[in-house]
Amino acid sequence: MVKYRNIDDLGALRGKRVLVRADLNVPMKDGMVSDDTRIRAVVPTILLLLDRGAKVIVMSHFGRPKGHVVAEMSLEPLAQPLSNALKRPVVFVNDCIGDVVGETRDAMEDEAVLLLENVRFHAGEETNDAAFAAALAEGADCYVNEAFSCSHRAHASTEGIAHILPSAAGLALEAELTALEKALGNPQRPLCAVVGGAKVSSKLDVLTNLVEKVDHLIIGGGMANTFLAAQGIDVGASLCEHDLANTARAILAKAEDRNCSIHLPTDIVVAQEFKAGAANRTIAVDEVASDDMILDVGPATVARLGVMLEGCRTLIWNGPMGAFEIAPFDAATVALAKAAGALTESGSLTSVAGGGDTVAALNHAGVAGQFSHISTAGGAFLEWMEGKELPGVKVLEK
Ligand code: ADP
Ligand code: MG
Repeated sequence: MVKYRNIDDLGALRGKRVLVRADLNVPMKDGMVSDDTRIRAVVPTILLLLDRGAKVIVMSHFGRPKGHVVAEMSLEPLAQPLSNALKRPVVFVNDCIGDVVGETRDAMEDEAVLLLENVRFHAGEETNDAAFAAALAEGADCYVNEAFSCSHRAHASTEGIAHILPSAAGLALEAELTALEKALGNPQRPLCAVVGGAKVSSKLDVLTNLVEKVDHLIIGGGMANTFLAAQGIDVGASLCEHDLANTARAILAKAEDRNCSIHLPTDIVVAQEFKAGAANRTIAVDEVASDDMILDVGPATVARLGVMLEGCRTLIWNGPMGAFEIAPFDAATVALAKAAGALTESGSLTSVAGGGDTVAALNHAGVAGQFSHISTAGGAFLEWMEGKELPGVKVLEK
C-alpha cells in the first residue's frame, strides 16, 4: 500500500511558516457562500498547524480567471467565512507572491491566519511554471496539500511547490487517500461499482478501467441508455450517445473477458417530458416508444441490484441512477442509496461515493452519513476511478 507524507512527517512546526493549499472554490450566491463544505474541510488541518505553533498561510484558486486579475474572482470575500469557521482572525493579502506577501506575513500575529489572493491570477499557476512555484514557496518553510479536488491537475500550487518545500498531505487529504485505497487499491471482494449520470463520453474511460478491477459493474442513468442502444435496443428520445456504440460494445466484451458482471436495467421508467411529476410508465427495456425518454431505472432492476449488493463487500459509486432532481425519477437512486447505506451500517459493506451530483443525490436520499466515505471532489474522484495517477498526490508519496 502506498504511503504518503503527513503533517507529523514535517517534524517540529513551532515558528514555522506553513503554506496550505486549500480548495476555497466554493459556490457563491449574491456575494455569500451558499455551501461551506469546502471551507469546513480545511479547518481541522489549519487548527492542528496553529496548535503546533506554526504560522499558517492559505492559498487557493477561485473560478477560472485564466492568468489575469478578475475582480469577481477575488478570494477576499472568503476571508470572513474562513475566519468564522476557524474562530480566528484571517488577514487577506491581495496577491499570492511578491513583497506584499512577505510584508504582511512578517507582521502577522502568532495565531493569525493569512489568506492569499487567487493563485490563478498568475498564468504560471496552471502552466506549473517553476519560477512561479518558487515565488509561492518564498519565505515559507513547508507545504501542506489539503485540496484533493485540485490534485488531478499538476499546477504550481498543487504539484510544483511540493518539489521545492518539505511537503505533506493535510488531514482531509490523508483521510481521502486512505478511504480510496481501501476501496479500489486493496478492496475486500466482491467489489461492485455503480456508474451512472449524464456525462457518458467523459466517463467511458472510467468504465474501461473498472471492468478490469471490479466483480460487478452497475450501469445506470444516462450511461445505461448508450449501452442499451449499443445492444440494439430502441431508446426512443432518451439521452444517449449513439456514436459511442462501438466503444460501449468494446467495454462489454472486455468485461466478459475479465469476468466482470455488467448490470444493465431490465425495466425502466419513461416519460415524455423532463419535469417533476411528468406522466410516466414503468416498462421493460424493449418497450420504449419513439417519443419516450428513459428517466429512471425500474423497481424490478433495483430489487435485483439490492440482492446482489447484499453479497458484495465493497462499493464505489459515481453518477445517479436516474434524473434524481425531479420526482418521481429519483426512486431508483434513492432506493439503491438506502440499500447501500443500510448494508454499510450493518457492517457488511464498505461504500465510497464521489461526484458533485452523486453527493447531492445521496444527501437527497438522506444516507450520506451512512456511507463509509464521501468524496466531494468531482474531476479528481473520476480520474482516480479511471486509475490515473493524481500528480498532486503522487508528489506526496513517501
Ligand atoms: P456526477 O456529478 O455525480 O459525476 P453526472 O454529472 O455525470 O454525475 O450526472 C448527473 C446528472 O445525470 C443529473 O443531473 C441527472 O439528472 C442526470 N441523469 C441521470 N440519469 C438520467 C437519464 N436517464 N436521463 C437524463 N439525465 C439523467
Ligand atoms: Mg455532475
